[in-house]
Amino acid sequence: MSHFFAFPRVIRFALLFMLCTASAAWADSASTPETGSVTSKPFGRTPEDQLVRLYTLTNKNGMSVSIMDYGATIVKILAPDRNGKLDDVVLGFDKFSPYLHITTYFGATIGRYGNRIAKGQFEIGKMLYQLPRNDGPNSLHGGFRGFNKRMWKVEPVESEIPAVRFSRLSPDGEEGYPGNLFVSVTFSLNDDNELRISYEATTDKATIINLTNHSYFNLAGGGTILGHILTLHANAYTPVDATLIPTGEIKPVADTPWDFLNPTPIGLHLKQTGGNPIGYDHNFVLNKGWFSNWSVAAEVDESKSGRTLTVSTDQPGVQFYTGNFLDGTLTGAGGNVYRQYTGFCLETQHFPDSPNRDNFPSTILVPGDTYKTSTVYAFGVK
Ligand code: BGC
Repeated sequence: MSHFFAFPRVIRFALLFMLCTASAAWADSASTPETGSVTSKPFGRTPEDQLVRLYTLTNKNGMSVSIMDYGATIVKILAPDRNGKLDDVVLGFDKFSPYLHITTYFGATIGRYGNRIAKGQFEIGKMLYQLPRNDGPNSLHGGFRGFNKRMWKVEPVESEIPAVRFSRLSPDGEEGYPGNLFVSVTFSLNDDNELRISYEATTDKATIINLTNHSYFNLAGGGTILGHILTLHANAYTPVDATLIPTGEIKPVADTPWDFLNPTPIGLHLKQTGGNPIGYDHNFVLNKGWFSNWSVAAEVDESKSGRTLTVSTDQPGVQFYTGNFLDGTLTGAGGNVYRQYTGFCLETQHFPDSPNRDNFPSTILVPGDTYKTSTVYAFGVK
């Protein structure tokens, strides 16, 4: 620093200016892709007065995905219809403040454990852990202040396509979970209109983990999703009790309202699913091949716009949720009122309550292992 003051005042000023503009340029560009772009802008401030930034990945077709560092949350996805018209196909807000209070998890990264854990309790070895019960008797989506309500650090990514990576350290004991968990989520958008979300995590103590993204899609850009045509590549689902905890059964979907093996309008059998509120809110057991965990989980078509969405993942399950708890009290981007069935979620995941079910794939992560998973959301037109 003493060397710095040896420079004449005008040079010192020039050096400081260069330093400031260089760091602002870094904040504005989380990667330097060969095609497309990454831009960022301020989006709001947390109650702790931290600046929240919105990062926008744009590909060469003009499709874009905007993600903020609060909750590593997808705020907006502009996807083309069959005439090339861009519309926002996810539920969200055009300003930051509503995100502080909502409990709908719009677009958020969910962790440390996506979906429910019965009574908020689980054991690892002989240790019993108690999580906060933020959903009746159960723990949901990481507790009262899960990963969706935390600031994430943005990191530079080496990538030829637009990409942004967020990371954070979830400290030992955060929301009751054991182990310091270092976690990152990378979003990238290629020129085939495919959004890839890749998650990685390591821990210093055995813990449980189940990360997902909670975007609500509406391929028409508004209205209900009941007419969207869905195919789910799942021969079975996991039925739930009245508090939405799996009963443990893995039940064939054939000839039940959960049968989406062939393209079916979402609304066709929705009323027959029962539940309070009525609608789909179930984990489907994805069909997997012999040689790979990677599979197409779901395909969705919306006939008016011609937009399609194909979701592929290495995860064993997907929570198909039809926004049953949306009650018209939230008004989002573009003045859209978010009522029941105005968006659907396809949350790729391990099964709910896995830590308490020996017959479900394990969600335990131990020191020395790396949790790694990806999901691709491909947007197309017909
Ligand atoms: C759950 C719903 C819950 C919603 C929160 C979904 O993943 O399965 O039961 O209400 O998230 O928005």
